Amino acid sequence: MSNVTSCIEVAVFSPLRQTFFYLAPDPAPRPGTRVSVPFGKGKRLGVILATGPCPAGITAKLVDQVLDAEPLLPATLQKLLEFGGHYYHHAPGEVWSTALPTLLCQGHALPSLCRTVYILGAKAPRSGGELRGRRQRDLLEKFLREGTVREESLSSPERQTFRSFLKRSWVEPAEILPDFCRARTPAYHLGPDQEEAIRQLESSQGFAPFLLEGVTGSGKTEVYLQMARKFLEQGQQALFLVPEIALIPQIQERCEQRFGAEHVAVYHSGLTDRERLSVWAKAGEGQILLVIGTRSSIFVPLARPALIVVDEEHDPSYKQQTGWLYSARDLAIRRAQLERVPVVLGSATPSLETLQNARMGRFQHLHLRTRTNSGTLPRIEILPLRHRRLEGGLDPALIEACAKTLEAGSQALFFLNRRGYAPALICHDCGTAISCPRCSASLTWHQSLRRLRCHHCGYENPAPRHCPGCGSPGLLPAGAGTEQLEEHLSRRFPSVPLLRVDRDRIHTQRQLRDALSAIHSQVPAILVGTQMLGKGHHFPAVALVGIVNVDQGLYSADFRAGERLAQTVLQVAGRAGRESRPGRVILQTHVPGHPLLEHLLQGKYSDAAMHLLQEREAASLPPYTALALLRAEAHDAGKVYGFLEQAIRSAPQGMALQGPLPSLMERRAGFHRAQIWVEAPSRVTLQSQLDTWIPGLQSLPMARRVRWMVDVDPLAF
Ligand code: ADP
Ligand code: ZN
Ligand code: ZN
Repeated sequence: MSNVTSCIEVAVFSPLRQTFFYLAPDPAPRPGTRVSVPFGKGKRLGVILATGPCPAGITAKLVDQVLDAEPLLPATLQKLLEFGGHYYHHAPGEVWSTALPTLLCQGHALPSLCRTVYILGAKAPRSGGELRGRRQRDLLEKFLREGTVREESLSSPERQTFRSFLKRSWVEPAEILPDFCRARTPAYHLGPDQEEAIRQLESSQGFAPFLLEGVTGSGKTEVYLQMARKFLEQGQQALFLVPEIALIPQIQERCEQRFGAEHVAVYHSGLTDRERLSVWAKAGEGQILLVIGTRSSIFVPLARPALIVVDEEHDPSYKQQTGWLYSARDLAIRRAQLERVPVVLGSATPSLETLQNARMGRFQHLHLRTRTNSGTLPRIEILPLRHRRLEGGLDPALIEACAKTLEAGSQALFFLNRRGYAPALICHDCGTAISCPRCSASLTWHQSLRRLRCHHCGYENPAPRHCPGCGSPGLLPAGAGTEQLEEHLSRRFPSVPLLRVDRDRIHTQRQLRDALSAIHSQVPAILVGTQMLGKGHHFPAVALVGIVNVDQGLYSADFRAGERLAQTVLQVAGRAGRESRPGRVILQTHVPGHPLLEHLLQGKYSDAAMHLLQEREAASLPPYTALALLRAEAHDAGKVYGFLEQAIRSAPQGMALQGPLPSLMERRAGFHRAQIWVEAPSRVTLQSQLDTWIPGLQSLPMARRVRWMVDVDPLAF
C-alpha cells in the first residue's frame, strides 16, 4: 500500500448517529465512495463523508478496502443526503443506506455499463513510439485509429492494458447522448391555461418551484409531458414522482408512447434489487432520459437533470414512516434547488403547506381551470343522519339514490375507509368492546373468516363465545366496514355485479387492475372500497358516490383529518362521472352544519382549504408553525415516560415543548408510545433548537432503554 496520510470520516451503514475516522492510502478516496472498515471485532461497510486531517486526539485505524473508484453520487445528491440527515436529525449511515439501492449497501459493484465508450484523455501519449510494451502500443494505436472504443469490444488481454490506461487517466469515458427520436404519438394542442403554465415554466431559470393546481382531467399530466419533452429533446433528463406504485403504469404508458420505451424507466420497491441497481446506474450515466418512481426515486442520480415533477403532491405516502422519516416532496424541492432546475408540484387538492408556500410567493401558483374534456364535476350533497336506522351502515336515502342510479344504467361507488365487517365486536350487556391485547385499539370483526383481527399489529383470534368482561354471550358487531356494506348491497341488489376493493380482497396491483378493468364497462354495477379505490383510478360510468364515514374526518384528534377529508371527497368526486354523466356525491354525516362540509358543498377545494388554513392559523398549527415530535416507545411505559422526562429536562431554555403525551395510538404491538411536541415559529428556529437538543439525547441515562426517533414535519401522531 502507498503512503498513508489522509484521514477520512466514515458513516457506517447502521443507525448509529456517530461518524468514525479512518486512515486511507494517498491520494485519499473522495467523499461519496464506499469503504469497508474495521469495526469492533469485525468489518462494516460505510461511505466516506469527508476527508482531511484527523481531528486531534483521535487514533484512527486503516481502512480495510476502498470499494469505488468514483463517488457513487454526484456532489448535488451528496449534499441532498447531508441536508436530509441534518434536517430530519437522522443517522447519516442510515440516510445513505435508505437512499442507495440495497445491492450497493451490501457491497456489490455499481455496474459499469457496457454502452459506455472511451476516448483518449489529455494525459495520454500522443504516439505509440512513446511506449515500450507492444500491448500498450497496440491499444493506443487502436484508440488513435478509431477515436472511440467500447470496453466490451476488447479482448481480455487488451482489457488488462485498458484498465492500466484508465488508472493513469490516459483514457476516459465519453458522454454519448442517447438519440431522442421525436415523439411517437403527437402531443395535444394545448388549452389556454396549459399554454400559460408551459410559458411560465419555460421562462424560469435555474431553480424555480411551481404549484400546478387543477382538477382531475384538467391536463396536468399533459403539461408535465410537454415540459419534459423540451428537455428530453436536448438529451436532458427528467424525474417524475408519484405517490404509489399503483399509479405508475398509467403515467408510464403515456410516457412510453410519447417518448419511446427505451428512454423511460421506472424505479420503485416492486422491482428486484438487480433491476433497481440497473436503473440507478443507467440514470446516473444519462442513458435513461425519464425516470418515473415512488418516494425513493428522489435519490436516483441523474447525469443531466433538468426537471423534477411531484404528482399528487398532497399525498401522505411521500413521507417515509419508518427509519429515516423524510418527505420525498420536500426533498424534491431541495434537490431542485441543489441541481438548479425547476420543480413542479401537481395536485387537484394541494396540501395546506404547499398552498401556503404559494400564497407567500415562495412557489409560483399555476392554475388549470377547466377540464380538457369539458366534463362537469359532480354535485356534492349532504345527507344528514338523524334518528334513522342504518342498513349495513347506509342511510335509506343513500340506498334509494343507489337504486335510481342503477336503474338509470350507471354505476354507484361507496367509499368507506374501514375494512372488515365491523370495527368492533361489542357486548350487548356491559358495553365492552373486545380489544387487541397488544394495542390500544378494538379488534375488527371479519365475518366471512369468523375471526377478530387487529389492523395495527396483525394479531388475530376466533371470536370468543362470551364477553371477556361479564361473561354474557351477547356479542354484536358495532359500526360498519366494507365487508358489511358489500353484504347489504348485494342482498338489496342481488342481480347487480358488485366489486369490493380493499386489502382483504385485493392483494396485488395486478389483481386491482384486472378487477377494475373487468367492472369498467359493466353497467349497472356497484363498487365498494377503501382509499385503495380513491387514488388515481378513473370511473367514467360512476354516477353516484356515497362517502360513508365523513364524520371520522371531522372529529379526529389528528389535526390533519379535515384536510384529508376535503382531499378525499374532491379526489373521488373528480374521478367519477366523467364526460356526459354529471353525477352526485353524497356525504353521509351526523353534523350536516359543520363548516367544513358547507365549504365542500361548493365543490371548490380552494374554499375548503382557506377555511382549514384559518383554523390552523387560529390554533397555531402548521403551516403557521414548524412542528417536530420526539417519539419514544418501549414495552414498559415507565421507561418511555422516564426517557421523555429526561429529554425535557435536558432541553435548552426557550424551547416550546409539550408533553410527554401519549401517541394517538397509545399502545401498538405491545409497545407503549408517547411523544413530545416541539413547536417553533419557523423552520429555521425549530432547526436551531433541535440542533442544540437532539445530539445530547443519546447520552441520557434512559436513552438506551427505549426506541426513540425524531419526526420533523410529522404527518402521523
Ligand atoms: P390530469 O393529469 O390533470 O388528470 P391529464 O393530463 O391526464 O389531466 O388529461 C386528462 C385527459 O385529457 C387525458 O386523457 C389527456 O390525454 C387529455 N388531454 C390533456 N390535455 C389535452 C389537450 N390540450 N387537448 C385534448 N386532450 C387533452
Ligand atoms: Zn359484557
Ligand atoms: Zn394489535
